[in-house]
Amino acid sequence: MAEKKNRVALVTGGSRGIGRATVLRLAQDGYDVAFCYQANQEAADTVAKEAAGSGARILARRADVSDMESVRALVRAAEQELGPIDVAVTAAGITRDNPLVMMGDHDWHQVMDVNLDGVYHLCRSVVFEMMKRKSGSIVNLSSVAGVYGHAGQTNYAASKAGIIAFSRSLAKEVGRYGIRVNTVAPGFIETDMTAVLEGKTRKEALASVPLRRMGQPEEVADLVAYLASDRAAYITGAVLQIDGGIAI
Ligand code: NAD
Repeated sequence: MAEKKNRVALVTGGSRGIGRATVLRLAQDGYDVAFCYQANQEAADTVAKEAAGSGARILARRADVSDMESVRALVRAAEQELGPIDVAVTAAGITRDNPLVMMGDHDWHQVMDVNLDGVYHLCRSVVFEMMKRKSGSIVNLSSVAGVYGHAGQTNYAASKAGIIAFSRSLAKEVGRYGIRVNTVAPGFIETDMTAVLEGKTRKEALASVPLRRMGQPEEVADLVAYLASDRAAYITGAVLQIDGGIAI
């Protein structure tokens, strides 16, 4: 009897935070997983080792999502090592917060390059193969800031709102090919990204959350894994918030 092949997932920004939790979760769910990291090879190796513990094949590779060639090379390597990509998750993202009046041009462009162009680069690199195979699931990480806006984050919020419009448009384009495209919009999640929030700012942030706690990366990974899977076979173009009720 032929050996059953695992489905293949590719995750950007997999060495820490939500991306890391997603790599581990998808490996547990039986996917072979490729992921990229920006710089920290040691952290990536640790994630790869932990994920491989579930029996999955894992490929960790350095890539810069703001660079199309780098993302293309990542996708080629993942396809060669693991096979055609069934699931793509864009978790790589950065913040460069400042009120607009003090925003540096570089901080504006860098956030756009990583957050929004990064999503374009990955989706552009995987979508044609998915169309040929008439199946695929893409999950892009946005933010509640992209839905409602957030003071001090015009650059970040604009990039995250762009991801929502991009994902909905792509969902409309490729639904007929059996490809689903969804967006997850987290609130305050306990990762390195939010570790910079201190004292009063953290207290105020938590006070705005009805559940009175930050979310865990594993809780977001759970939602990503659900949207990626066939359990969500009739969900596309959705923007699912996971935010402890911050928006109600
Ligand atoms: P994090 O800072 O812990 O991790 C971000 C990851 O992206 C890291 O692995 C980093 O190496 C990678 N990365 C950054 N720039 C990159 C580049 N140019 N090329 C490749 N990789 C790059 O962040 P997180 O909290 O895990 O966030 C993951 C995603 O979720 C991001 O898109 C973020 O905007 C979004 N998000 C996070 C929160 C939160 O509260 N933590 C809330 C809403 C949305």
